[in-house]
Amino acid sequence: MKVAKFGGSSVSNAEQIKKVLNIVNSDDNRKIIIVSAPGKRHAEDIKTTDLLIRLYEKVIQNLDYLSKKQEIVQRYADIIDALHMHDGLLSKIDQTLDYYIFTLKDKPNRLLDALLSCGENFNAQLIAEYNNSQGVPTRYISPGEAGIQVTDLPQNAQILDQSYEALYKLRNYKEKLIIPGFFGVSRQNHIVTFPRGGSDITGAIVARGVRADLYENFTDVSGIFRANPTIVKNPEVIDEITYREMRELSYAGFGVFHDEALQPLHKDRIPVVIKNTNKPDDIGTFIRHDREINSNNVISGISCDKGFTVLNIKKYLMNRQVGFTRKILAILEDYNISFDHMPSGIDNISIIMRSKEIQNKEERVLNDIREKCDVDELSVEHDLAILMIVGEGMHRIIGTANTITHALAESKINLKMMNQGASEISIMFGIDVADADKAVKSTYEYCYNGKCLKI
Ligand code: ASP
Repeated sequence: MKVAKFGGSSVSNAEQIKKVLNIVNSDDNRKIIIVSAPGKRHAEDIKTTDLLIRLYEKVIQNLDYLSKKQEIVQRYADIIDALHMHDGLLSKIDQTLDYYIFTLKDKPNRLLDALLSCGENFNAQLIAEYNNSQGVPTRYISPGEAGIQVTDLPQNAQILDQSYEALYKLRNYKEKLIIPGFFGVSRQNHIVTFPRGGSDITGAIVARGVRADLYENFTDVSGIFRANPTIVKNPEVIDEITYREMRELSYAGFGVFHDEALQPLHKDRIPVVIKNTNKPDDIGTFIRHDREINSNNVISGISCDKGFTVLNIKKYLMNRQVGFTRKILAILEDYNISFDHMPSGIDNISIIMRSKEIQNKEERVLNDIREKCDVDELSVEHDLAILMIVGEGMHRIIGTANTITHALAESKINLKMMNQGASEISIMFGIDVADADKAVKSTYEYCYNGKCLKI
């Protein structure tokens, strides 16, 4: 059995929905389908989810929201019209939005999640109804009915383990099932959404729950590129990548697949394939537990993410002080700041975090560190970019770091920091934001276009 998930651009209009259903109906094993909300139809378009956020903002600011609501209803009206469907669903859409606004406007967080869920929820109903009308037995299943039980934290749901047992029962249905992505239901019976892009997470949860043989994730590209195609011209598509590599790359800026979607899959080793709705015959990228490593695929991909801040702390004889790092980290914890990397030397330590983590808190954090930790020097650097070279093969091959540093040196890029984890699955370089694109281009040339040093 396969679980297939279709992203926003794949279900953005009638034409795309027809493509999706051709794919779905062409394979009897594609039994369970997860859909996103209608995404962008062209570059300047606005995603339905973003329209719903704007509607929410109008409501809570007590502004006139009717035209915003109408814009959302119109997105579905256009699709229904182009598919020559009965328009009964439209009044349901309108009434549901009204109902949430009316009942939840005093509970902003709950209202936001309820409105956000509408994007995928209406689309799933619409697509199921249309497929049925074409003679293919199809059933819409809400996340509540499917058994997707989640924690109660608005916009940040996490799956509860008991969901998996309930989800297994979905195997008993004979029809094709269409389930909206992006949200579940909490024990307190609230609609709670996953973080943005969370339909990938729903797909992964359902794939694990029904013990699917394959999770197909359909999007608008034919797989995952080895580097950002807006920086490197025509980068190679990765044919196979491991869960661990994917996690590192998604975290560091690869947007094709949500990093939180890997967790449910990797326990039962359910393979994922990233495929293109517009070119379904393209092979795509497989994400698996293990992969074959040869001299051409040691490094899976190169990513570079911007917007990091680093705290540099110096303390003479730091290595002799027990508990020094703990005191620093306790301060970060007090301010609810999570950090990403912590390279250290004998007398210094650098703590790297996403700038948004420390925004508006920086002065207070620095003061606390000065007061409580008796540091010799404390400085902050903004505008740091993190270049990540990711590849399972690196731990067996001599010379990867040499290749990368060579490429960076040739491009006159100053390395502010370097960190290689014990797992040797990635090497991280801290560089200036201004060098970010240049760094991706030059390391790509060296790693994949055979510019010198064969690893
Ligand atoms: N529609 C939601 C978003 O735009 C979830 C998703 O598409 O995965 O974030």
